[in-house]
Amino acid sequence: MEIQGIKILDLVQQYKAPLYIYDGQQITNNYNRFVQAFDVPQLKVNYACKALSNISILKLFKQLGAGLDCVSIQEIKLGLAAGFDPEDILFTPNNISEEEYADAVSLGVGINVDNLEMLEYFGATYPDIPVCVRINPHMMAGGNRKISVGHIGSKFGISIHQLPHLERIVSSFNMNINGVHVHTGSDILDSEIFIKAAKLILEVVDRFDTVKFVDFGSGFKVAYKEGGLATDIEEFGKEFSSTFNAYCKDRGKDLILKFEPGKYMVSNAGYFCVKANVVKQTPATTFVGVDSGQNHLIRPMFYDAYHEIKNISNPSGKKKIYSIVGYICETDTFGADRQLTQVRKDDILIFKNAGAYCFSMSSNYNSRYRPPEVLIHEGKAHLIRTRETQEDILKNQIEIEF
Ligand SMILES: *Cc1c(COP(=O)(O)O)cnc(C)c1O
Repeated sequence: MEIQGIKILDLVQQYKAPLYIYDGQQITNNYNRFVQAFDVPQLKVNYACKALSNISILKLFKQLGAGLDCVSIQEIKLGLAAGFDPEDILFTPNNISEEEYADAVSLGVGINVDNLEMLEYFGATYPDIPVCVRINPHMMAGGNRKISVGHIGSKFGISIHQLPHLERIVSSFNMNINGVHVHTGSDILDSEIFIKAAKLILEVVDRFDTVKFVDFGSGFKVAYKEGGLATDIEEFGKEFSSTFNAYCKDRGKDLILKFEPGKYMVSNAGYFCVKANVVKQTPATTFVGVDSGQNHLIRPMFYDAYHEIKNISNPSGKKKIYSIVGYICETDTFGADRQLTQVRKDDILIFKNAGAYCFSMSSNYNSRYRPPEVLIHEGKAHLIRTRETQEDILKNQIEIEF
């Protein structure tokens, strides 16, 4: 198995497992395909950097022409360090303090506000700073409730039912609402539902003639298996562009259309490589115990995510059924009852779709090191993060003498 002509097994030999590898060409293709799917006068794609936030990945997005969607002041600082202009960063936090907003304001990035109390505070404190408002249309697109943020009980956004209240605040402080934002969750499969939500959002845009952009967030679904369900981005882009263009034309508005995909941009560009430490036969199951766990890739345990797993050391071996489990003393099953080619001790397994929410959700649980990351760009492998060491584990810890 190769990426841009580089053998994955060679990289594992060089950098050792566990190891994250990213295909820069795949990221570039994803970005270009996304941009080309839309046909509007002004499009801005802000990469949601919480999906994969290595500074070299951010620099790649900067080079591609993307902006950045940041959800914390630290992500903003990372983005600025990667060379993004403050105006190409939109800050969309949730439940943060006034101090964190103040830091973001002083750095000059775009501000998104997601509750009325904070909007009021903003109006009173920064009457001249334009703000975007995050609206919750309470429409649920797709399956996983844990990652769907549009339902009625959701903590995100200003409820569309509170629009009159929102308007009162804006007019009493004479605020400059420069954008309207919505991010309803993680699954856009049905363009029709999304476009319905979009129409609700455009009704909000109608209320504020200062609006310059409309940001429709993300929720683009990627396939986790061969033939798995995914957003048809070309179809979506076509239908969405025509809805958006018709709206702009009808209202005589010249709006910028924004999206902020994370998963769509990087999920299928990532591979996580682990080594089989133990192949253990029990009366019921054959386990493959690997040198990793939920500390490195938590999505299967956290929200039942599916990651395809392959044995790249023995690609033509006989197929058998295995449960692939980690070394952490806690729920730690990567995949149960999976068919893999025969796994022997020390074989290298790879997890696909390991670009989004994998390394960025990793931890030091069980005091283990986080793995290194390699980016393959223009046919060359670049180490973009080293493996942690015992010093990293002890860093910031303070020993007291008893
Ligand atoms: C996480 C997040 C995204 C990205 O979502 P994906 O499903 O990874 O595309 C976009 N916008 C906001 C506000 C987010 O919090």
